[in-house]
Amino acid sequence: MSRAFQSLLPLSRHRIDRDHVSRANAALLDERWHGPEARVLVLHRGQALAIAGANPADYDGFGPKPTVAVHPRLDLRSPADLPDSVVRHLASGGVRLYLGFGLDDSDDLPAGAPVFAISVTDAGASALETPGSSWLNLRMVAADLDDVGAGIFTEALAMVNWHTTHTHCPRCGEATVVESGGWVRRCPREDIELFPRTDPAVIVGIVDHDDRILLGSNALWENNRYSLLAGFVEPGESLEAAAIREIAEESGVIIDDPEYVGSQPWPFPASLMVGFMARVSEEHPAALRPDGDEILDLRWFTREQLADPASDVLLPGAASIARAIIERWYGGPLPEPEKQ
Ligand SMILES: [Zn+2]
Repeated sequence: MSRAFQSLLPLSRHRIDRDHVSRANAALLDERWHGPEARVLVLHRGQALAIAGANPADYDGFGPKPTVAVHPRLDLRSPADLPDSVVRHLASGGVRLYLGFGLDDSDDLPAGAPVFAISVTDAGASALETPGSSWLNLRMVAADLDDVGAGIFTEALAMVNWHTTHTHCPRCGEATVVESGGWVRRCPREDIELFPRTDPAVIVGIVDHDDRILLGSNALWENNRYSLLAGFVEPGESLEAAAIREIAEESGVIIDDPEYVGSQPWPFPASLMVGFMARVSEEHPAALRPDGDEILDLRWFTREQLADPASDVLLPGAASIARAIIERWYGGPLPEPEKQ
């Protein structure tokens, strides 16, 4: 893995100590929540309360990104400043997540300040909004946030998504209770602990013997949008085996020895994208065969084709590991805005 490559992945950045040892101490977390340095990130329907920036709620992270007029910053508030309706929501079963503490001084967060995250209802969201605030979509702003903001938003969203879908025990159906600063849900009937989960997916930059890269157009996208092939790791399967299987299924292409290049959390809702590079097998050259279900079209691209200003091919957005892998192969940032 290249550390330089990893540093290019917007959602992999973090400047928070997750402070595992404090999670089990409920009294300590209460004390920190009420302390003067505490900050809380508020999420609503997967978006974060922020200061400035554009906010198209339906932006999916691909295609032309709406202009962000002002550099966005998370609106990290003191818990003491939360509206009464939000405080009541938390007291009646709302989840309060302890994310950790800031590692160094930044504009938004002093070093050592404890950081929490909460998710609010529509009414709570309305009560929190101010003339300068807006709700930001992580996929849209990840590349524009600083390391502190990107890390907090990514961690908070991943955890909120887990809580949203794991309110009950998967074994017996009993309602679970939140413990350890939000990092555990316990089934009271069976007295078992349930931990947050992440679903690994592999994504592969495939090059042929002419050093062209393989991109596919997904059935869910517009016709001229292309990205790397990717898919979920199945139970009982290694990352490498998943990469080889997914590529063969989606394209008919056989690859040799996929090599790990880096990973990025992708909390939409619960993925970890594990990036690989691979070459087409010399022993098993195969014609491109889109699966016709997920992938409708496949093309080999040269660097000149992707950089061509006359091309109408749309590439993945700046927040994605797909973009970073394509640019790693390309040798630098690809031109924008035509390609973004
Ligand atoms: Zn149970």
